[in-house]
Amino acid sequence: MNLAFKKPAQALRSLDSIAEALLLPSGIDGVYARTAIFEKVIDGLADLISSYREDKTEVLRFPPVMSRRQIEKSGYLKSFPHFLGCICCLHGDEREIQANVERYEAGGDWTGGLSAADLVLSPAACYPVYPLAASRGHVPAEGLIFDVACDCFRREPSKMLDRLQSFRMREYVRIGTPAQVQNFRSRWIKRGERLAAQLGLNYRIDQASDPFFGRGGKLMAMSQVEQALKFELLVPIHSEQEPTACVSFNYHREHFGATWNLCNASGQIAHTGCVAFGMDRLALALFATHGVEFAQWPTRVRQALMV
Ligand code: AMP
Ligand code: ZN
Repeated sequence: MNLAFKKPAQALRSLDSIAEALLLPSGIDGVYARTAIFEKVIDGLADLISSYREDKTEVLRFPPVMSRRQIEKSGYLKSFPHFLGCICCLHGDEREIQANVERYEAGGDWTGGLSAADLVLSPAACYPVYPLAASRGHVPAEGLIFDVACDCFRREPSKMLDRLQSFRMREYVRIGTPAQVQNFRSRWIKRGERLAAQLGLNYRIDQASDPFFGRGGKLMAMSQVEQALKFELLVPIHSEQEPTACVSFNYHREHFGATWNLCNASGQIAHTGCVAFGMDRLALALFATHGVEFAQWPTRVRQALMV
């Protein structure tokens, strides 16, 4: 694999210096109000990614919350408990709920009365699609392709503008035979590179692993690399030495198929894979590369994004 960036080193705009034009603080690290110019680029990116959508793809847009039961069963709690955000609400009868409010009004803590609801904040856009597909019965011979998106939450507070707690993810998901999923991923790595070039971004593709939790997690990450299950499209946002993962290309093998009993008509467990676009990171990469003035962006990039 060629680990060199496609272009020679480029001067990058410091994100801190342009933050005011893009993302306004909310008082919480990793949570921002997005300005109109930032959203213009997000919209342009969304349309550009749609223009690459393959035939016979089903489009679904998920809310920012999903079933707690589904995320537990998916294995997310086991692998990434440090990232997971669970919805908690005040439960009980009117008197019990009122007591918590009164505690707050009297200067005390109301959060002790919270208990977990049946919802979590979605940590990635593709998790709800596997049980949904499984509920429809057998996976057809040609397999399935979905186009999904949602606002995602991961508890990784940071002052870095490219490490958010709340961010947007768009994904194409493939469900089918191992060959169908592997071909899908190879196609998408090439397409991801084309897309980055079209956007005038400097980039390289590299193998990657997920930040699994704890000591056992190190072994899982090693095995993920050994089996080449994850690749990322990396773009320098801060520096070439520490580029930022803007798109990931994932092969889950039979993990979700076995979890949700996703089978074809002859009972073989389906394999799955996904390509996940970090929308906010791609937008930041564009601003870091081309600046905040659209007028100064290369014409072909403006045309591609309609900005
Ligand atoms: P992953 O499921 O970790 O491969 O994430 C898919 C994509 O979401 C990544 O390639 C990033 O572009 C984006 N992403 C993941 N975590 C964050 C974060 N904390 N802040 C912003 N974007 C993120
Ligand atoms: Zn995914």
